[in-house]
Formats: sequence, C-alpha cells, structure tokens
Amino acid sequence: MTDKNVVENFITHIIDEDLANKKHTHVVTRFPPEPNGYLHIGHAKSICLNFGVADDYQGTCHLRFDDTNPEKESKEYAESIIKDIKWLGFDWQGKAFHASDYFDQLYLYAEQLINKGLAYVDDQSPEEMRENRGDFNRPGIDSPFRERSVDENLELFRAMKAGEYADGQKVLRAKIDMQSGNINMRDPVLYRIKRMHHINTGDKWCIYPMYDFTHCLSDAIEGITHSLCTLEFEDHRPLYDWVIDNVDISCHPQQIEFSRLNLSFTITSKRRLSKLVEEQVVDGWNDPRMSTISGLRRRGYPPAGIREFIKQVGVSKKESVISMTVLEDAIRHHLNIVAPRVMGVLRPLKVVIENYPEDQVEMLEGANHPQDESFGSREIPFSRVIYVEQSDYKENANRKFFRLTEGREVRLRHAYYITCREAIKNEAGEVVELRCTYDPESRGGTADGRKVKGTIHWISAQHAEPIEVRLYDRLFNHPKPASLENFMDAVNPDSLEILPNAMLEPGIAGADDEVVYQFERNAYFKRDKTHETDKPIYNQVVTMRDSWAKMEQEGS
Ligand code: ATP
Ligand code: MG
Repeated sequence: MTDKNVVENFITHIIDEDLANKKHTHVVTRFPPEPNGYLHIGHAKSICLNFGVADDYQGTCHLRFDDTNPEKESKEYAESIIKDIKWLGFDWQGKAFHASDYFDQLYLYAEQLINKGLAYVDDQSPEEMRENRGDFNRPGIDSPFRERSVDENLELFRAMKAGEYADGQKVLRAKIDMQSGNINMRDPVLYRIKRMHHINTGDKWCIYPMYDFTHCLSDAIEGITHSLCTLEFEDHRPLYDWVIDNVDISCHPQQIEFSRLNLSFTITSKRRLSKLVEEQVVDGWNDPRMSTISGLRRRGYPPAGIREFIKQVGVSKKESVISMTVLEDAIRHHLNIVAPRVMGVLRPLKVVIENYPEDQVEMLEGANHPQDESFGSREIPFSRVIYVEQSDYKENANRKFFRLTEGREVRLRHAYYITCREAIKNEAGEVVELRCTYDPESRGGTADGRKVKGTIHWISAQHAEPIEVRLYDRLFNHPKPASLENFMDAVNPDSLEILPNAMLEPGIAGADDEVVYQFERNAYFKRDKTHETDKPIYNQVVTMRDSWAKMEQEGS
C-alpha cells in the first residue's frame, strides 16, 4: 500500500485538480468535533482523512471544536477529544480552534444578513414554526413576521442579544425560500435564545448561533479549502454556500461529502454510546468493549493498526457497513508483526515433572518473535513444577489430540519433551494435577529425531506471575444493532469473561506495560491499569484467529 496517509480517492482527485489549476496553493482542512461525547471509531475515519490529507499535501488541518450547543458540551469531552486525536498520531500546530472564538464575528455577519434584508426575527412558537415549515410533500408557509423592516429586525435582534426576551421567545431566521424543495432552505434558524453557561464564553452570550450558520462561516474565517463531511450534510450544502455567498467574506471553502464509517456489531453514535454508559452496561466511555477511541486504547488496539484499517476502508460516497472482522484482522495483522511473544497460561493446570530435580532451576532461551530476530530472546526459568493450560490435557483423547493425555509425549515450548503419566483428580472428579516425566536429552525441543507433534506453552510455577485476564467478545450479538427498535436488546450478555487465576511468565508485567504481547497460542494482550488492585490485569486485545466470520456471514 501507498506511503501516503490516504489512498487516492475522489477527494484527493479534487484536491489534485485544485492545486493544478492554482485554485489553491495550500490545502487546509479541519476536523470539527462537537465536544458532547467521546470520539468513536467512526470519527477515526474523519480524523485520518482530514489530518491525513493535510499531511499528504504538506497542508494544514485545524482541530476545531464545534461548540454551539452549550447544554450538551463539557470540558471533559473536549479534553478527551484532544487526547484521542494525539494518540491516533495526529497533531495540529499550536492551538485548537473553537467555533465559539468567532461568536463576535458571527454576530456581525448575522447583522449583515439583516441589513441586506436576508434575515428576520421570528416570534412564532417552535410548534408554529415546525408546522409552517411543511415537509417533503407540503411547501412551507411564510411566517407572519417575515416582512419586518430591516430596522425593526436589527432592533429586535439586538434586544435578543441584550437578554430582553425569554429563552425560545424569538429566533433569527434566514430569509431564503419557504417553498424550496430542500427543507434546509426554508428560512432556517440562525440564532436562538438559550441562557446556558458555555464552556468557553461563560455567560457572555444568551443567544447562540446554529450549526448551519456557524460551521460554514468558521470554515471560511479559517481559510479552509476543502471542508470534508459525511453524506448527511449533502442537503445542507446549498445553505452552506448561501450563507457564505451572502456575507462579506472572501474565502469560500468547498464542502465535499463522503460516506460514514459503519461497522457491523457495533454502535457509532455518541448518543447511543452515552446510553450504554449511563445505564452502566459498560464501565464508562473507555470500557474496552466500547467502539470509542478511548475504549480501543484501553483494550490495547495500537493506533497504527487503527490507521491501517481506516486506510484499507478507503474513502467514497458509497454507503456501506464494514465487517467488524476487517477491523479485527487489521489489528491482528499489525500485532503479528509488532507484538513480542511470551507465555501466559489463562486457566492453569499444575504439572509435576517427577524425574526433574526438586531444587533445580534452569534458564532456557526463548526467541521473542519467531519471524523477526531483531526482537532478540529472553531467558525463561524452568523447574519441576509448571503450569500448563487446562485445555491441553484430555482424558481418553483420540489419536488426533497431540497434547497431553496419559502416555503421550509433547514438546514444551522452548524447553523439553514431557510425557504424561497420570492425572490426579479431586473429590469432584476434576483433574487438578498431572504427573509427567521429561526427557533430559530433549532440551531446546529436539531429541533423536523423534516425532512429537504437539507443542504447548507452560510457566514455571515458582516463577509465575499471577495475573487477571479479561477476555472480551463483541458488545452486541446483532450485526446491525442500530437498526433495531431498541439497540440495547442486542447487548451480548457474555461480552466479558474474567479469568482471575491466570499466570504470566516472569519479567513481563511492569517491564513496559505499553507493549501489546502475544501470549503464544492464546491471543494478544495488553495490561490495563485503570482499576488494578492486587494483581496486574491484562485485556485481550484481539484473538489470534477470527471466530465470528461464519456468524457474520449468516447474519448480514
Ligand atoms: P455522532 O453521530 O456520533 O454524534 P457526530 O457526527 O454528531 O457523530 P461530531 O462531533 O459532529 O459527531 O463529528 C465530528 C466529525 O466526525 C464530523 O465531521 C462528522 O462528519 C465526522 N464523523 C462522525 N461520525 C462519523 C463516521 N461514522 N464516519 C465518518 N465520519 C464521522
Ligand atoms: Mg454532530
């Protein structure tokens, strides 16, 4: 794949043309989140596109908070957004922009529209306005206040700003066309009265500009060349252009729409994600099962893997649902290259090697990556009592089971061949211990050319580090939860399994907890210190293989 952040697509074609025609000499894009929730994997597409395109063309990308809705916005959200974008690997020179930085300017632009007879103060109630707006089949009806004089409108708008009216009592509307086939053009509201404390402007304003008025002008003020947004804004584009064309501003950014990222088995809507948090279905916005950037980070998804995924998905105008498997495969593919291998036993079964000396400890060498020598190797202690995976023993196993069963020999990874002699059961009939013998000649995993098919992982009991392991499955068991009447019905009750008695080889926990490890034969894991108490906790990042592909095919 290309070295560029963004694979060639219809947007890069437009940019290429604009640069060739000298329409622009420098590309300026923006990522405009509203600080009303945490960013999710869908936003990652917009981030990688906007920051990525700017980087590919040696341009600039602004982070701009679209903060025009004070009742839903918070500093916590704004801070999380900054953290998430940086973590994804993008940066902006200097400061973040805010739509609220332009409130003074926007107010003046609104007065310009009034002066041109292109905006008026409407006293209709919200219900009347909704009713008179019409719908797809029914044209709108002009407001009785539509023909107010410029002077009257100016006076009323200034009084709105001065706080002389109650919330919702009046609005400022653009005077466009109540008969327009595009409902967005039926005299859209530009300003509303709302007495709310704003995270940036405090109590300075009691009127706030609406999104459609703010967004285009913020773009123009900042000299954005290409304003990239998702398809649902296509019908807003005439309004975007109308506003810019009718105020005195020289820059006219081009709005270009692309399709949203939709992922199967997940939710990409802040509103729904926040419901999962509020109803405590998950442990906060950064629960490792959440499709939020902070959840994926806590889970252990590497940012480079997410970027690769987004690149793979590409940019187009076609609506589609991307299979969750594509994301997981991208992460798996990335981790297979970058994750050091270690041995971790998820469900330990004690093994006593009867012919191994009681007090002996040997240091064995294990390569940290089977395909990449640059990862080097580590020393792994071996002793008489080890743990293996419970699932690596089977009573009365058939010939195709190449692991432990009475009389069968297996290879211990990086160590010796052992032969299972006897299984010891507790009163409940469960196997609690295996008695084995080892072949001292087989150190390093070879002995007189004997064929031993199975290789299993293990950990020396006296050296093992007790850990807690958390296995995750998808949070939803329906491929399109958002299509259901109640998406909460699709929450998978078995999305978290805690294994409190797992064991990890020594020297790993605490060494570099930012590293994602492959616990060989198990899965990829990363330490999660969020609520740790007595033991290190490891999250399963992604399994080694995909276990959902079949179900997904059936389900979609
Ligand atoms: P949500 O529906 O989750 O509330 P939003 O679009 O309201 O998302 P914003 O904070 O307004 O959230 O989004 C910031 C930017 O991210 C916008 O330009 C938006 O188009 C883009 N974006 C949001 N969701 C997706 C998605 N699923 N795929 C691609 N881009 C997205
Ligand atoms: Mg939005």
